[in-house]
Amino acid sequence: MGIEEKLPSGILLTSVEKLSNWARKSSFWGATFGLACCAIEMMAAGGPHYDLGRWGMEVFRASPRQADLMIVAGRVSQKMAPVVRQIYDQMPEPRSVISMGVCASSGGMFNNYALVQGVDHIIPVDMYLPGCPPRPEMLIDAILKMREKVMAQPLGPNGRKMLAAREARGDVP
Ligand code: SF4
Repeated sequence: MGIEEKLPSGILLTSVEKLSNWARKSSFWGATFGLACCAIEMMAAGGPHYDLGRWGMEVFRASPRQADLMIVAGRVSQKMAPVVRQIYDQMPEPRSVISMGVCASSGGMFNNYALVQGVDHIIPVDMYLPGCPPRPEMLIDAILKMREKVMAQPLGPNGRKMLAAREARGDVP
């Protein structure tokens, strides 16, 4: 009898999923870019005082192909929108997005033609962080919550959608 027949249905996949998510949440690699003033707070979070390295996040990657976390730090101009989308497309799955600050999340005080009124018009967002600007502690808190989300995310291309469904059902702590 093969191991698949001895084990209850799905146990192997669940274990692989947990291992993969554990590895992923233990060392997010952020894409290196900042769009406006919020990026200053993001840089402060990575500095020695706040020390994101405590959570395996001291390495921001210059290449999106090596990054699995995008922090949209600041307002997104119409001109930058295709660039943000291209960086997102170049990041391998599974990837996560944090919208940092009110400008990135909704356009903020800049309700005008020049700015995208929320980065979720161009890429899917996993977490919205309020504030103008959010403090480094708030960003760290969002990243820690993102780690919890990642642990509950199923593997595969539909992982994000399935997680959203689980959250809607209240199955995620
Ligand atoms: Fe700047 Fe505030 Fe907008 Fe952040 S939310 S980009 S700090 S104006």
